[in-house]
Amino acid sequence: MSHANLIAGEWVKGQDAVPNINPSDTADVIGDYDRASAAQVEDAIAAARAAAHAWARTTVQQRADLLDKVGTEILARRAELGDLLAREEGKTLAEATGEATRAGMIFKFFAGECLRIPGERLGSVRPGIDIEITREPVGVIGLITPWNFPIAIPAWKMAPALAYGNCVIIKPAELVSGSAWALADIIHRAGFPAGVFNLVMGRGSVVGEKLVTDPRIDAISFTGSVPTGQSILAKAAGRGAKVQLEMGGKNPLVVLADADMDTAVRVALDGAFFQTGQRCTASSRLIVEEAVHDKFVGALTEAMRKQVVDDARKPGTTIGPVVDQSQLDQDLRYIDIGQKEGARLVIGGERLNREKSGFYLAPALFDATRNDMRINREEIFGPVASVIPVRDYDEALSVANDTTFGLCSGIVTTSLKKAAHFRRNAETGMVMVNLPTAGVDYHVPFGGRKGSSYGSREQGRYAVEFYTQVKTAYVMQS
Ligand code: ADP
Repeated sequence: MSHANLIAGEWVKGQDAVPNINPSDTADVIGDYDRASAAQVEDAIAAARAAAHAWARTTVQQRADLLDKVGTEILARRAELGDLLAREEGKTLAEATGEATRAGMIFKFFAGECLRIPGERLGSVRPGIDIEITREPVGVIGLITPWNFPIAIPAWKMAPALAYGNCVIIKPAELVSGSAWALADIIHRAGFPAGVFNLVMGRGSVVGEKLVTDPRIDAISFTGSVPTGQSILAKAAGRGAKVQLEMGGKNPLVVLADADMDTAVRVALDGAFFQTGQRCTASSRLIVEEAVHDKFVGALTEAMRKQVVDDARKPGTTIGPVVDQSQLDQDLRYIDIGQKEGARLVIGGERLNREKSGFYLAPALFDATRNDMRINREEIFGPVASVIPVRDYDEALSVANDTTFGLCSGIVTTSLKKAAHFRRNAETGMVMVNLPTAGVDYHVPFGGRKGSSYGSREQGRYAVEFYTQVKTAYVMQS
């Protein structure tokens, strides 16, 4: 079945199409997804511009009703959308259904936020004047999304963009166009005016590039890799557009000697390997106090041995395949680099054969690593984690912060004092105590520091910062 782009309220056939392949079973083609031409992206931009004025002037109730309708349909169809997501991305059915649910909740949340767009009224320092500070839409927003959260990331960008009165053009990752297409179909049928929401699928270098460079796009919100994010920043900010970037992580999980060992193993296993380690919040550096090092590595290795790596949609699977051949090659390359750097591969790291032909990789754990090794500096984005032994808490904190990234960090400890100190001193946008670094709520801000993020936060009430612009009005009292 073919899937067209949504431009100016119409389904428009692309210049060509690519098959969407199931990473659990490469013989399974989910469908063909069109690629928009640069001219079609221009049509989408023109349609969004034409719709922007009227859309910005709709009532908050109109927008709230539309977003609520989208959220209701997503939630009603979460099992089916979860199945599609697991089939195209490779996370397990439970993980994928959870993600679809989250997307529905995000639309519901922002339906409510439409009714709570904040403003302020202040007195002037001059007599007889009132000051009113309001938030207005930014205009037309380009959204560029990655493959690892095929429905949640599009949702957490689209919902606030639309809620605050902006028009949207989204370019999803080619590997997972199915979930974005399904979401576009739901939005289209909900009854948004033509041009308010547009879907243009295709290559980053054609479709993405056009969104980034076209002067009619007022803002770009991007989630993806560091090099792509940096090049987008240079181009979009260079022409004066508003930019928000969420990029990689090299997230530390500190395990202290006083940790509850079951908690430490559960938190590390989930954070490092669930969703095949393909989360920007994944715990890739496990920083462990020497006193419990052997016990922790032994227990985590045991827990890893029990994982079932298989078809994402098969009952009993706990870890699905890697998303595609090129990501698998990257994971294997880093597993090789780690060994050449002198790290000890404790378990995993080999390709696995299953009943169906897919990109199966045994989750890999390195031990005896140093923080200056490439496997601990560069984002691998797969089921690969390293143990870095440290003497004490002070060294653990300093190793945790010694990275160019700053998305999320975690600590497992029973010491209130050390947990509080870590929370205050971790140089990351998010910090977890006795919880995995990955796995966040949908109603609170998400984002990082240092090289992980740029611009204001996504999600929760904090999304208002990016998707609106402030106006200060001075009014003479009559
Ligand atoms: P990943 O492949 O890990 O998701 P990328 O940064 O390569 O990370 O891709 C993230 C998103 O950015 C995808 O939708 C991709 O198509 C898009 N993209 C890639 N290159 C460009 C580019 N030069 N300009 C705009 N978007 C791009």
